[in-house]
Amino acid sequence: MTLIDSKVDLDFGPAVGLFCRECGNKVALGARHVCEECFGPLEVSYNFGKVTRAQIEAGPKSIWRYAPMLPVPQDAANRPVDLAPGFTKLLESVNLAKRLGMKKLWIKDDRDNPTHSFKDRVVAVAMTAGKTLGFTTISCASTGNLANAVAAAAARAGIRSVVLIPDNLEKGKVVTSAVYGTTLVGIRGNYDDVNRLCSEIADDRGYGFVNVNLRPYYAEGSKTLGYEIAEQLGWRLPDQVVVPVASGSLLTKIDKAFKELIALGLVDEKPYKIFGAQATGCNPVAEAFEKGWDVVRPQKPHTIAKSLAIGNPADGPYAIDVANRTSGSIGHISDEAIVEGMRLLAETEGIFAETAGGVTIGNLKQFIQNAALDPELETVVLNTGDGLKTLEALDTSVGFSSVIEPTLEAFRTAVPE
Ligand SMILES: *Cc1c(COP(=O)(O)O)cnc(C)c1O
Ligand SMILES: [Zn+2]
Repeated sequence: MTLIDSKVDLDFGPAVGLFCRECGNKVALGARHVCEECFGPLEVSYNFGKVTRAQIEAGPKSIWRYAPMLPVPQDAANRPVDLAPGFTKLLESVNLAKRLGMKKLWIKDDRDNPTHSFKDRVVAVAMTAGKTLGFTTISCASTGNLANAVAAAAARAGIRSVVLIPDNLEKGKVVTSAVYGTTLVGIRGNYDDVNRLCSEIADDRGYGFVNVNLRPYYAEGSKTLGYEIAEQLGWRLPDQVVVPVASGSLLTKIDKAFKELIALGLVDEKPYKIFGAQATGCNPVAEAFEKGWDVVRPQKPHTIAKSLAIGNPADGPYAIDVANRTSGSIGHISDEAIVEGMRLLAETEGIFAETAGGVTIGNLKQFIQNAALDPELETVVLNTGDGLKTLEALDTSVGFSSVIEPTLEAFRTAVPE
């Protein structure tokens, strides 16, 4: 990966470099994600100028309103043509809050994004970095939603994409990637196999992998969810946030976003707790949290929550740090409880979440039961994906109330007054 070092005028906005999260080693911005000293993960560091609420509020109604806090060119002209993700709804829960005995609950609904999941945020930032670094093919290893987001964003930007997914993903995730005309490669294996293969391909081909060699930039895109929550609450932080966990990146970036907002003086400093949500069938982060380990033991996933089925999560230990430091928790629930969570959210709020949303709602319920989460405090729960993509999860639990002959009599019998 020599793309960057030969160029001097690359525009990454306020980003000034990459640093290793393990040993602190500093390196130049470029297409790299692993520290050469210790193999730790690299992260973007910044030198923020003055950023004001008014400046952000005057920006576009998309993640680009936060450009002063992202590793991207500050002028829209230098960003790739994109689908303008972000600025999704923050809905105040009425019925679910009542059902769970909560005083104030908000649902951040990322179905509003262009391909109906939060992955459009990370892809927009990674694609921008990919363009800056001169890549002409964008690629990814995906559990489904990322595949959608990369394929759509590449179509819109008019660049080639090569997308790799496990061949057993939900049909709703295969079709919604393939339709964008991407090169979609099904791999006979699980996500961790796909990811390992992508690391090899990244060395073999000059592709920009949004979640491999562009991962530091990709990960920064998740911060926009945290920024939006604060802005939409009227420039305040909530007391508690519940976040679904796959690699653990999103969870750590909600925390990073809140810390940056405090440091920039955009919100008042206050304590907040961050909670992680996993499925029991793939719970390496929750397991390590529970047992007090500081390393995560890899697992072979087996759950209907395929979008969260990462058995060897890169950011797991960092997610555990955040949960511990903020006095949050990381939990896990069964596949039955996931379906129950999907139905509960749909029946109480009219929001049809994918399995990951069921994981989050089910864990929220469990955190209240365990007294890990305080129902009296203001809480935000993230819905990161759309139930229309994972219909098969509900195949055996919802359907017709009845099927009748087309007569009034039959209807009278079937449906009580
Ligand atoms: C990818 C994904 C997540 C979490 O991703 P991390 O790898 O933990 O950042 C959460 N929800 C959905 C629907 C996803 O697709
Ligand atoms: Zn290092």
